[in-house]
Amino acid sequence: MCGIFGVFGHPEAANLTYLGLYALQHRGQESAGIVTDDGRCFYERRKMGLVSDAFDYQSVFEQLPGASAIGHVRYSTTGGSFLANAQPFVAKGRFGNLAIAHNGNLVNTARLREKLERSGVIFQSTSDTEILVHLIARAKGNLEQRLLAALKQVRGAYSLVILTDGGMIAVRDPWGFRPLVIGRLKKATLVASETTAFDLMGATYEGEVEPGQAVFITAKGQRAISFAAPQKVRPCLFEYVYFARPDSLCFGRSVYEIRKELGVKLAEEYPASADMVIPVPDSGVPASIGYSQRSGIPFEMGLIRNHYVGRTFIEPRDSIRHFGVKLKLNPLQHFLRGKDLVVIDDSIVRGTTSRKIVRMLRAAGARRIHFRISSPPTAHPCFYGIDTPTQEELIASRTDVEGVRKFLEADTLGYLSLEGLYASVDHGELSFCDACWSGNYPVR
Ligand code: AMP
Repeated sequence: MCGIFGVFGHPEAANLTYLGLYALQHRGQESAGIVTDDGRCFYERRKMGLVSDAFDYQSVFEQLPGASAIGHVRYSTTGGSFLANAQPFVAKGRFGNLAIAHNGNLVNTARLREKLERSGVIFQSTSDTEILVHLIARAKGNLEQRLLAALKQVRGAYSLVILTDGGMIAVRDPWGFRPLVIGRLKKATLVASETTAFDLMGATYEGEVEPGQAVFITAKGQRAISFAAPQKVRPCLFEYVYFARPDSLCFGRSVYEIRKELGVKLAEEYPASADMVIPVPDSGVPASIGYSQRSGIPFEMGLIRNHYVGRTFIEPRDSIRHFGVKLKLNPLQHFLRGKDLVVIDDSIVRGTTSRKIVRMLRAAGARRIHFRISSPPTAHPCFYGIDTPTQEELIASRTDVEGVRKFLEADTLGYLSLEGLYASVDHGELSFCDACWSGNYPVR
């Protein structure tokens, strides 16, 4: 769970990267980093915390000069949450300077790491991204040859933006697990995890980096090469359900429209009789609108969110997560008294947030609570870059829907079916990764 951004050929590269990361903040809140190149050397700055805590927008250019820059916001999926693991990673070798920002999760790193360590490599971090840097450093040839040799050895999910001396490279793994898009702002080329970053700066969206493609960006222009044989691509469906921002185009489709359609399908699969449909804000809002429109039950705000608190789940420590629910959501006491509610959220992970929400709504006087989830039961962990707890901690892996309902203390519970989810995406020929629901892992 990370956001990456890059800009090539703009006099205010660091400021644009700051803004890009700001728009991608939902993808990671643990650390933020920017590396720039002014044609003479690389400048780097990484800090724990939010983009606005890590950098001062007014002085970011003085600290990080140059016309090209890359940036990263991190939520750890492998490697602990500390500064040494903050990205972008910077390395200097026979190939020159290199900085790399990674969204995704490599799956064969244990073996690669052991092999590298046995041959004398000393790692500075526990993050899987550093392995890529060492593989590049140890390969032969020019930077392009080295990068391609390194990519041949890694498996799993990686969307990358790489800053090199005089250039930038955008790379997406052959399965296309995580998104990566290219945009233009006047003469500058931009790379981002999501299109919402382009909207912020008035840039135009040009298209996706294709799965298995590396796009080399220099002053001479862009050159794309395919580094892997075509295979079944597997973009992540969970980006649509929860992770991407609703104002982004993800894998070429509108996230908001898909989320709304999830709610429509949910209303068809699990109708309920109630006074109102209320979302768990913000993740449940678009699906609630869809549910309300399809069912004719009015959409209302029953829970008010304090926007100055980050995502509850995104805090890696359990104690803070529990505390966070109350800090973040407050029910509308008088308004809910005696009412029957359809309550919609995008997913249930451990079930602890949902249970607290049900209890809060009951305490506020709600009568019947029909909990609806706009995705199937999350029963399998993600190994491709979405942070999920171990399988045992996923409530849907331990019990059936009725067991989850009892745990939540809801009157009824309905999860959207996988078929309903696919139908909402209007996937056509495209296949997706749905491993967190189906257990079908496309890469071992
Ligand atoms: P839980 O109480 O553990 O079931 O958490 C459920 C809440 O976490 C839902 O409101 C989801 O929107 C949110 N959520 C689902 N998956 C993730 C994730 N990978 N990271 C952060 N939050 C998530």
